[in-house]
Amino acid sequence: MVELKTDASIDAMYEAGQVVARALTAVREAAAVGVSLLELDGLAHGVLREAGATSPFLGYRPSFAPTPFPAVICASVNDAIVHGIPTAYRLRDGDLVSIDFGAQLNGWAGDSAISFTVGTARPADLRLIETAERALAAGIEAAVVGNRVGDIAHAIGSVCRAAGYGVPAGFGGHGIGRRMHEDPPVPNEGRPGRGLRLRRGMVLAIEPMLIAGGGDGYHEAADGWTLMTDDGSRSAHVEHTVAVTGDGPRVLTERCAAPAARFDVPSAG
Ligand code: MG
Ligand code: MG
Repeated sequence: MVELKTDASIDAMYEAGQVVARALTAVREAAAVGVSLLELDGLAHGVLREAGATSPFLGYRPSFAPTPFPAVICASVNDAIVHGIPTAYRLRDGDLVSIDFGAQLNGWAGDSAISFTVGTARPADLRLIETAERALAAGIEAAVVGNRVGDIAHAIGSVCRAAGYGVPAGFGGHGIGRRMHEDPPVPNEGRPGRGLRLRRGMVLAIEPMLIAGGGDGYHEAADGWTLMTDDGSRSAHVEHTVAVTGDGPRVLTERCAAPAARFDVPSAG
């Protein structure tokens, strides 16, 4: 069952989305060689507390999970795709980090993810991240009234495949509202013109996941949560919460308040 949100509800979801945006901006600014994943988790937790928001991740236990999720961020490093549990691991030069984060504010959820490099970036990682961001942008562009879920999926998958990257099947985006995960599922690959028709008031989390090696295979790490690439290649994951409105897609987790320089892709030199 897909719930359509009123304009007022979408405005309230924007407030939740902006807590997510602030936390991800803070995490990215703090992430540096020697900083631990647990420290980044603590930082994001502080942003939640300051905003009077709560975490939809902490204690979350979907059917596949052996244990409740123990943190407020997912931190997936290098060959981890998504759902990485923050540990005492300290970031190393050249790491590729994906941070996924959600907030619940005044009863509404927001969900977003970023990928970035730490220290000296590998050119291949920058290309992977740039492609993930292009796939996300293409998916958002397709989130318009009258299109179908398959159009979003096709837009995302086309960008990933054209660049030669793998797309892990079985994980993707979702409807979002009072709960973080609602109907409909929003796959990262699909056929255009198929699936549920998009209507004004639908709010979707759109989240491409890319595998650099080009294969689609993944497996669970020993912690029962982290998804790892089968070929050991690196992965990127980016996500926004997007409302389908009468004026086109509205990105509720847009990060606009940060200094622009922090968002430039670092030079590979
Ligand atoms: Mg997410
Ligand atoms: Mg999500």
